[in-house]
Amino acid sequence: MALINEHYLKLSDNYLFQDIAKKANAFRVSHPKVRVISLGIGDVTRPLAPAVVEAMHKAVDDMLHEDTFHGYGPERGYDWLREAIVKHDYGARGIHIDPNEVFINDGAKSDTANISDILRWDNNVGITDPVYPVYIDSNVMWGRAGRLENGKWSNVTYLPCTAENDFVPQIPDHRVDMIYLCYPNNPTGTVLTKNELRKWVNYAIKNDTIILYDAAYEAYIKDDSIPHSIYEIKGARKVAIEFRSYSKTAGFTGVRCGYTVIPKELTAASLSDGSRIGLNHLWDRRQGTKFNGASYISQRGAEAIYTPEGKQQIKSNIDYYMGNAAIMHEALTGIGLKVYGGLNAPYLWVKTPDNASSWKFFEQMLYATGVICTPGVGFGPSGEGYIRLTAFGKREDCEEAMERITKWLR
Ligand SMILES: *Cc1c(COP(=O)(O)O)cnc(C)c1O
Repeated sequence: MALINEHYLKLSDNYLFQDIAKKANAFRVSHPKVRVISLGIGDVTRPLAPAVVEAMHKAVDDMLHEDTFHGYGPERGYDWLREAIVKHDYGARGIHIDPNEVFINDGAKSDTANISDILRWDNNVGITDPVYPVYIDSNVMWGRAGRLENGKWSNVTYLPCTAENDFVPQIPDHRVDMIYLCYPNNPTGTVLTKNELRKWVNYAIKNDTIILYDAAYEAYIKDDSIPHSIYEIKGARKVAIEFRSYSKTAGFTGVRCGYTVIPKELTAASLSDGSRIGLNHLWDRRQGTKFNGASYISQRGAEAIYTPEGKQQIKSNIDYYMGNAAIMHEALTGIGLKVYGGLNAPYLWVKTPDNASSWKFFEQMLYATGVICTPGVGFGPSGEGYIRLTAFGKREDCEEAMERITKWLR
């Protein structure tokens, strides 16, 4: 008899975005004349940079000729892309990363979920709350999260991030083996200063913790003092894995390419004999069995981001989204709402007026304005009483949504 992995049954079926779609559809049916605007989407809308498309066209042509055809690529990714990454994403910031510490992938989601394959099932886990759901659900699948009790997993340490602590998670007072940090943050759009991040690195060094650092939104940082990489902090090479993605940086959500950095110094203990094992090697071994590389065409597209034209073109898309964020920030603070994030990230995290619950405010706003947001509680218990708005929409939609909301709440 084949038995299933029972841990999957612990996962909630109600996927947040399906619930939102259901409610939005009910509204559309009863209000056919209203043009619904979604500020809930976490997907980009700007087309790819011309330099990227040109590079991918050329890569497709390469596949037509025997002498330039590419079959399986190296599992860690092509050297030319890994070299461009260490030069432009790290070297330019004074960080030394070796190309062999970089693993190209088909996007950050898979690696942030799969990385825990190489860590023991009974490590305990710390997450900031609210959180990108992938970090929790992937640990539930491993049986690492424990039982769900009152909306919280028993073996997960929740680090609340709310207006009360200025969205700075407090360092735990006990040992946590694996901690997920995502900065700039999805969903709150907030950032950590170098000093705050340093506290986490020091905690990790002292407690033998591994930090899983998701920097998918680093390209949105405007404030020069905010760290783009955890490796800007001394000692981080011993304790941190960093995930990056071209999805939000360069509109690659439909192209699929990203990378993970695992420094050579990063080790974890083996329970059997206490020896230290390098995670770079372990992940390489894992990928060798379970992954066959990102496509040649995607990697050529990613490489083009580092050309002068490519850099300029992706920056102009990011500026477009951050222009949306500025318009939203100004309009919403202008009517007295408490708005967080949105200055170094494409997300705004808004406190609901009159302490309305996230879902109640979601419905109120939908029925009063036809604008869709994401209820904060969908990202974790500390998201209750907030909503998330994204700046990934079209400028016109963003402006119209702000007009409707200010008219409603003024
Ligand atoms: C969008 C996003 C990613 C990137 O996912 P891809 O698989 O690279 O498209 C990673 N982490 C967070 C928090 C995100 O919001």
